Amino acid sequence: MRVYVAGHRGMVGSAILRRLAADGVETITRSHAELDLTDQSAVASFMQAERPDVVILAAAKVGGIHANNTYPADFIYENLMIEANVIHQAFRAGVERLLFLGSSCIYPREAPQPMAEGALLTGPLEPTNEPYAIAKIAGIKLCESYNRQYGTDYRSVMPTNLYGPGDNFHPENSHVIPAMLRRFHEAVRYGKDEVVVWGSGTPRREFLHVDDMAEASLFIMDLNAATYGANTQPMLSHINVGTGEDVSIAELATLLAEVTGFRGRIVFDRTKPDGAPRKLMDVSRLAAMGCRAGIRLRDGLADTYQWFLETSEFRT
Ligand code: GDP
Repeated sequence: MRVYVAGHRGMVGSAILRRLAADGVETITRSHAELDLTDQSAVASFMQAERPDVVILAAAKVGGIHANNTYPADFIYENLMIEANVIHQAFRAGVERLLFLGSSCIYPREAPQPMAEGALLTGPLEPTNEPYAIAKIAGIKLCESYNRQYGTDYRSVMPTNLYGPGDNFHPENSHVIPAMLRRFHEAVRYGKDEVVVWGSGTPRREFLHVDDMAEASLFIMDLNAATYGANTQPMLSHINVGTGEDVSIAELATLLAEVTGFRGRIVFDRTKPDGAPRKLMDVSRLAAMGCRAGIRLRDGLADTYQWFLETSEFRT
């Protein structure tokens, strides 16, 4: 079996690649320079030449609340193009199994918490990341439509907020964990007694370590079709992956201060957006199938900080 991992240099793709390599699975990868996934003819030629047995679509343009708010056109355009090209060309090349990676932001801003798979398209989205969310919803619907029309087995997994080794630690454009980890680290390094956290500190988020995400992704990909679709009619279009537990941003900041050894003050910058008030996944479907996250938040944050310290580009 040969598995093409699109986005193998990203945080999730590289974690999936590590797992596949550990299991001895043959993988196909292309760097961004070798293959531009927004280029339809390039993706078509690649798929026809390689004809993988399985495709894992972990390539996406991703970013935190500020990046989504600042570059909405890039987020919707690039993600729609990547999904349309990879899914359609995989189908044309005879790929029967594909796993599409989405995001918890597909659910309505005011969805009942925890958010179950059935909450999709039941209300308006969070405005700060609506263009990205629309692209991810389109990805789910692409998979669902090819399954309906052509009988393919294209599955979609919706992870909650992810973090871990390989994350993007950009000070403005990254997600909250890497951004704050870096800020706390630099405060300790340069002896500052104050760290600024964006927003009010009250939004609640659920965080999943990327190694748990990689394990869940391969678990879902390997389920037999009957088990995957067993709980729903028509067949389940997407499935949530998370821990089932959330923390407030203020609690997260305290944990990160402990992990990095910061003892100063934490202040909240209320001029920055809070985003969705709460994002907690209902992970009961996945749990019923026998898959649960194993890495506790505090341990995962410590592991991520260790990786950050060992990665030379962040050594200051
Ligand atoms: P979201 O889940 O799409 O809102 O993604 P983010 O990870 O970007 O933000 C999560 C929450 O953390 C939001 O309420 C942000 O306002 C808050 N937050 C606090 N400090 C930071 C920061 O330095 N960077 C980011 N990206 N978010 C922060």
